[in-house]
Amino acid sequence: MYDPKSLKAEEFISDAEIRETLDYAEKNKDNLALIDEIIEKAKLRKGLTHREASVLLACENEEKIAEMFDLAEQIKKDFYGNRIVMFAPLYLSNYCVNGCVYCPYHLKNKHIARKKLTQEEVKREVIALQDMGHKRLAIEAGEDPKNNPIEYILECINTIYSIKHKNGAIRRVNVNIAATTVENYRKLHDAGIGTYILFQETYNKESYEQLHPTGPKHDYAYHTEAMDRAMEGGIDDVGLGVLFGLELYKYEFAGLLMHAEHLEAVHGVGPHTISVPRLKRADDIDPDTFDNGISDDIFAKICALIRISVPYTGMIISTRESKAVREKVIRLGVSQISGASRTSVGGYCEPEPEDECSEQFDVSDKRTLDEVVRWLMEFGYIPSFCTACYREGRTGDRFMSLCKSGQIQNCCHPNALMTLKEYLMDYASPETRKIGEALIEKELNNIPKEKVRQIAADYLVQIEKEGRRDFRF
Ligand code: SAM
Repeated sequence: MYDPKSLKAEEFISDAEIRETLDYAEKNKDNLALIDEIIEKAKLRKGLTHREASVLLACENEEKIAEMFDLAEQIKKDFYGNRIVMFAPLYLSNYCVNGCVYCPYHLKNKHIARKKLTQEEVKREVIALQDMGHKRLAIEAGEDPKNNPIEYILECINTIYSIKHKNGAIRRVNVNIAATTVENYRKLHDAGIGTYILFQETYNKESYEQLHPTGPKHDYAYHTEAMDRAMEGGIDDVGLGVLFGLELYKYEFAGLLMHAEHLEAVHGVGPHTISVPRLKRADDIDPDTFDNGISDDIFAKICALIRISVPYTGMIISTRESKAVREKVIRLGVSQISGASRTSVGGYCEPEPEDECSEQFDVSDKRTLDEVVRWLMEFGYIPSFCTACYREGRTGDRFMSLCKSGQIQNCCHPNALMTLKEYLMDYASPETRKIGEALIEKELNNIPKEKVRQIAADYLVQIEKEGRRDFRF
């Protein structure tokens, strides 16, 4: 029985409900009156249900798809302005006891180099990341209770926050580790993490069990119910995602939105972010052996529909995607991107020798952070290194009410400009700095409240002339 309020995975992600939804969507994919009605509802910017959004996903009418894309672009502008938040992943350990068939960290992979960073190595990696200009990390680790117990993760978080090198600082650590207990989530919360991210991989239980044949991750219910435990442990901001390419995308899309509806129904707040990773080539993994890969056009449609279905949820895209794809989907609603990522353990300090691969997947966008920042600015985006909300306690529903109050432009916009200014002063190449300074000057005028604009202008001068850092609204 489908029940969004249930705490049982198979009830809030009901297979029968997804199948009925897909059936309904298929039957109505040419029902233009209904499609228009759903698009009109989306224009209210209050989101769509999984059923409504699934009808739009099934629709193949070019004109209507163009309308959906335009709306996604408009909603993105209204909610997120032209800011793009920057982050980098930090791989701590690739020891893993799971058997995920799409991931090269799987236990049976005996030739991949297994690595786990010592605290000294964490420090070196973090300094390398700080020296690029990063302020926000997502830490990643395989699941291995012996090699990567929660104590190890907590120690790494502590180390990361403690490193102050030149003007560098990591101000927000998001965590992407395997599903765990309420008690461990509480420990992560107490260690001051930002978002807890866990990809569902697939919402289809049967496929899930086949794709995760061995190890603790095999347990579909434990994995799917993880976000409820995280919230019980005090973590307000959780990040969802599916690994596109494993299962039928229409199934995953409905499941993803049902998961968001479930979090909203039970905890009063939906997911903070949704990630849209696509399966990539990696060590002993060949994505062509999986049947459900999606084209760039479908991928863009999914991004646009996530944007209009859950307008308050940030959307993340990683360097799994190429520059060209990133360019296309940023416009449609992506609010956070990674830059200059390494998916190998220890990869920021030293590139790995060919015979010593510890990478999780091939990165498509291999540009430096400076190049990514410049590229964003050339498109009129403001790369933002802001971490203010979580540090000011604006998490969970408090963050959502900031979004809903329309005050974002008086808060996030100046914060983005000030953190960009820090980046330009401390890390940018002369060319990037020149473009950035002009952008900041222009964008300062887009802060609606005069008082805030004046204060921000004053802070910008202090950043430049007095070497002050870390202002925030
Ligand atoms: N081990 C943790 C877990 O079980 O959730 C999470 C960390 S894992 C390093 C991060 C994510 O990378 C996984 O959730 C998966 O979706 C993704 N991933 C694994 N193999 C991949 C591949 N071949 N291509 C793209 N993404 C992959």
